[in-house]
Amino acid sequence: MDADGGEGLPARCGLCGVLMPGESVPSAVVRDSSAIHPHDPWQDGKRTVVACSPEHLEELVERYGYRPFEEAELWAGKIARVAAMHSTGLSPEALAYETGLTVSQLELGVLWQNEHAQRRHPQPGEPHTGPTGPDAAE
Ligand SMILES: [Zn+2]
Repeated sequence: MDADGGEGLPARCGLCGVLMPGESVPSAVVRDSSAIHPHDPWQDGKRTVVACSPEHLEELVERYGYRPFEEAELWAGKIARVAAMHSTGLSPEALAYETGLTVSQLELGVLWQNEHAQRRHPQPGEPHTGPTGPDAAE
């Protein structure tokens, strides 16, 4: 039921994926504009990475360093989190209040979201063929 937030699970090295037994593993906090905390806005944009060794941690941090930190991506994530809690939709003012963003930040976040949605689904208007499967027809 609850989203798996990864809490309580054994940690895996973010680089090589090896399962790490202990709790005292090397970790670092990196800036990542795609990191949206499930409920704590203050932790948005920060991702805790863990690694099996200081060498792997170093490489992991370096990789995140190459990734551009796009504020619009962060805003889009904040909007999506708030929108998920309000299925009926929100006025721009309420959305701004709940996300803590300005209206222009909201616009940029939505723009970012649209751009990336289009990249994933280049043809959103594909014909609807109706239900499929042998039992679908009445
Ligand atoms: Zn590793």
